Amino acid sequence: MRFLRFDDGGIPRFGRLDGGLVTPLDAAPWAGGRDAGERRPFETLALLPPVPAGGKVLCIGRNYFAHAKELGNEVPAEPLVFLKPSTSLLSHGGTVLLPPESERVDFEGELALVIGRRARRVGPKAYADVVFGVTPALDITARDLQKKDGQWWRAKGFDTFCPCGPVVECGLDASDLALRTYLDGELKQDGRTSRMIFGLPALVSWVSQAMTLEPGDLLLTGTPEGVGPLAPGQHLELEIEGLPRLSVRVAKEP
Ligand code: MG
Repeated sequence: MRFLRFDDGGIPRFGRLDGGLVTPLDAAPWAGGRDAGERRPFETLALLPPVPAGGKVLCIGRNYFAHAKELGNEVPAEPLVFLKPSTSLLSHGGTVLLPPESERVDFEGELALVIGRRARRVGPKAYADVVFGVTPALDITARDLQKKDGQWWRAKGFDTFCPCGPVVECGLDASDLALRTYLDGELKQDGRTSRMIFGLPALVSWVSQAMTLEPGDLLLTGTPEGVGPLAPGQHLELEIEGLPRLSVRVAKEP
């Protein structure tokens, strides 16, 4: 099943997508949202990021061997975790803004998990209970600032640096999905989620040892090799097998 969020005259709402029709829900799907008794054509909706602002956006760094290597980094012995602010979320169809502080902003295509249940200090076996679904996400990164700052809050945290969506897919086995990133239609990343160093159940368990996971939190699970820079005017797309493509534009921040 597929879920999304949309702007209904200034009010954010959740919906379930069936074919080309959206059924608005009276609450988040992970909170038991029920059919609100309407149908809307998908193409008429102004989409929002599939999770609301205010939650956590947890990210895993260097979780694919070939990507750690391409940036000259060691493979981590434990999952390398960082956070993006939820103000970095951007909806499908939005525009990534390149900030004037950076001369090198990279794309990183990633599978993101959407948390559906509160969880603290759970084991890997709790994965299916805790994870509501998956969505494509881009971990946009100011590479020069990542090196310069030491802390990654700014390099990973600018507004628009976390495009995600358009939908959250439930009931999909995400352990071995193709993940492809395209820049102006040219294939840049071509990985599989099965090539992660730390698998999905281990990641959920690991982050829950430190902080409570809450419904609507996102967990980006790392990027395969092939990352590269963005330029104004480009069209960036992420395709994860079994899910609709995430598509955004790139522009200079005015
Ligand atoms: Mg990343």
